[in-house]
Amino acid sequence: MPRGRFGADRHVQMFTDEDRQLGAARKHGMTLDEYRATLGAGLKWCFGCQNWHDRDKFGPNRSTNDGLNAACRDYRRTYNRRYAQRRQRQRSTPA
Ligand SMILES: [Zn+2]
Repeated sequence: MPRGRFGADRHVQMFTDEDRQLGAARKHGMTLDEYRATLGAGLKWCFGCQNWHDRDKFGPNRSTNDGLNAACRDYRRTYNRRYAQRRQRQRSTPA
């Protein structure tokens, strides 16, 4: 088994960052430039509200690519409250 095969394969990516950004831009009906400008302005797409917010509205999440939750704090708070109402008397400690 020749070594280096896996190392070489690492350079052959199916999608470059640009491809990924272009795909994301199209999803939002934006051009790549518009999408980059939006990100450059410190905005992040919220999957909860389906809208753009400032990045500081998102809580940290180490398991995501950018280290932030996919949904903003407000959305998650609302979602958590709804969820909590379903099991009313069980009070859990705040995270
Ligand atoms: Zn939101």
